[in-house]
Amino acid sequence: MAAESWRIITKMPLDRFVFSQTALQDYLDCPRRFALRYLERLEWLAEEAEPALEYERRQQEGQRFHRLAHQLMLGLPAERLGLLATSPELARWWRHFVQAFGDLPKQPAVYPEVMLGAPLGAHWLISRFDLVTVQNGRARIYDWKTYHRRPSDEWMAKRMQTRVYCYLVVVAGHHLNGGQPFVPEQIEMVYWYAEFPNEPAVFAYNAQRFRQDQALLEGLAQEIETRTVFELTEDKQMCLFCSYRSYCQRGTTAGDWHQAEVKEEEGVGEWY
Ligand code: SF4
Repeated sequence: MAAESWRIITKMPLDRFVFSQTALQDYLDCPRRFALRYLERLEWLAEEAEPALEYERRQQEGQRFHRLAHQLMLGLPAERLGLLATSPELARWWRHFVQAFGDLPKQPAVYPEVMLGAPLGAHWLISRFDLVTVQNGRARIYDWKTYHRRPSDEWMAKRMQTRVYCYLVVVAGHHLNGGQPFVPEQIEMVYWYAEFPNEPAVFAYNAQRFRQDQALLEGLAQEIETRTVFELTEDKQMCLFCSYRSYCQRGTTAGDWHQAEVKEEEGVGEWY
């Protein structure tokens, strides 16, 4: 049978599946990837981008940056944390970060690495946030990105991360607000780019977007729940940065990491 006609015929657990923005983005990018990763739980080792060592180094630098940012938000002194930013790249990101957010931990309601979850049909939707702050009844969601290139705001607005994060703060963020639920207009999401510190992407939420997101998320959960066939994506660009590339017979050579960091940002593990 030709690889193009391969299908995965499987069944999702009927209840209590835990969705995340990553899993939903995988599903939209490629139903087969979703099935392999979350239903079949197939581990398939392959380079996700070339050159592999540089890609891995960037991933590790991104993870180190996120750990430092978390520690700063917990109140550790910036100067001491800065001693751990040993590479030129990490030192530069750290300098930008402290300039932009060094005073944020002094605010009263700062929630780094907070996790929110809510029912989604018979399932769950769960996400961990880099940071949520609450001031005067308004929530601001922050997500730190160490992209080498700044993606367009239009592209980021459509990402499941943007939609899931804002939605979850409405339906599950009340305990961050003294037990009072947020209305969508009280929520804002900020992507802050460590390489482009003066060019954050800021998205204001509203009731119309919330309704659209709710319909999308509930629809996706229902669609996945009843689906038994998970096709390969028709967009072969998606395969360039996918670890299942050889399994699906979609080539053996990985794409260039410069594109991978944005294209496959949430698809394989967590690429910061
Ligand atoms: S290699 Fe392509 S078709 Fe296969 S799971 Fe990955 S994105 Fe989907």
